[in-house]
Amino acid sequence: MSRTVAVVGGGVIGLAVAWRAARSGWAATVYDPRVGSGASWVAGGMLAPLSEGWPGEDDVLAVGAASLDRWPEFGTELERATGETLFTSQSSMTVALDAADASDLRTVAEWLDGRGYRLDLLTRAQIREAEPSLAPTVRLALLAAAEFAVDNRALVRGLRSAGEAAGVRFVAETVADVEALPADQVVIAAGTASTRLWPGLPVRPVKGEVLRLRHRPGVAPAPTRTIRASVHGRPVYLVPRGDGLVVGATQHESGDDTAVTVAGVRDLITDAQTLMPSIGEYELYETAAGLRPMSPDNLPILGRVSERVVVATGHGRNGILLTPLSADAVVAALSGTDLPEAAASRPDRFRHTSADAAVHANADAPVRK
Ligand SMILES: Cc1cc2nc3c(=O)[nH]c(=O)nc-3n(C[C@H](O)[C@H](O)[C@H](O)COP(=O)(O)OP(=O)(O)OC[C@H]3O[C@@H](n4cnc5c(N)ncnc54)[C@H](O)[C@@H]3O)c2cc1C
Repeated sequence: MSRTVAVVGGGVIGLAVAWRAARSGWAATVYDPRVGSGASWVAGGMLAPLSEGWPGEDDVLAVGAASLDRWPEFGTELERATGETLFTSQSSMTVALDAADASDLRTVAEWLDGRGYRLDLLTRAQIREAEPSLAPTVRLALLAAAEFAVDNRALVRGLRSAGEAAGVRFVAETVADVEALPADQVVIAAGTASTRLWPGLPVRPVKGEVLRLRHRPGVAPAPTRTIRASVHGRPVYLVPRGDGLVVGATQHESGDDTAVTVAGVRDLITDAQTLMPSIGEYELYETAAGLRPMSPDNLPILGRVSERVVVATGHGRNGILLTPLSADAVVAALSGTDLPEAAASRPDRFRHTSADAAVHANADAPVRK
């Protein structure tokens, strides 16, 4: 008889865990009243550990790069199994609009170079040739040739159908108490709600708003790469989709609020237009907001917290990127082993901070069933 695992939460993390666990011989059940309704549905879909890198954040870079390495095989397998088209662009470009941004790009390029990642700095002329729709004010760009992007919604659909094909069961219920779940093992992958299920997990919601734009006939085509920048000190990105672009994203710490605000939409449009003047001609067909499950150190929280419970949360801005690595780390934890590449993400790294005493207290608690 297979061992049973209950996965709480059907975002990309819970769905990927359930799919991979089922393929490793577990009888997996996903509990979620609305599969794919959380941050996973809202996200931009960038896989950008290098472009998002910053000196000093070596663990974040290493964990992200380890997951990016897994993406080609993981995504291709999912595409073959489900018929979904996941990959929407093959590379990303972080661009500078002023001298301070250009200096930051050079700093990041140098830091990455020292860690074995050689990224190209492009001049104005090279940028113009590569992405003619960008504004002439763009003065320097850092090209990450292997940082692709995926369609997050195709990913949600694909993971669900691959899971179903592998035998994963779905139960449309909200879980209030993990102890009551009828399974040998439990995985908590409920995004920002994970702290309600395992009190003390240091995860907080960070709201993000995004726009979805459709290309219209006769209008300049969208960039073929993901474009990232900072405009007036606000981060903004354009992520290609088959029919246009996703523009993101605002960042606010405002609890569980997911209202899309006028100011959020205004800033995103203004900043995106600074990067790509023709964007005003696109159709704005959707605005959305979601809650990023942020951890204190920008690393996910992956691993065992009791003999029966494993957590997979805290993915913050990078949950789509970190999906393959998280699934591998959780399947390893279920079978009692550790994934070395995910070592920096262990839940017990917080044991010395007071906010996280409860995590450790729970981890040391007697087995509860
Ligand atoms: C605006 C925005 C842009 C982003 N862009 C990117 C990006 O470009 N690249 C990237 O890598 N990441 C991005 N992210 C981050 C990424 O979306 C998240 O890190 C990731 O989706 C988290 O996945 P999750 O499965 O942990 O959580 P979620 O997708 O939030 O899923 C949690 C699920 O748990 C369920 N649930 C909650 N409580 C319970 C309960 N008690 N019982 C049962 N089910 C429950 C919910 O219904 C939900 O379906 C972005 C996020 C936002 C908000």
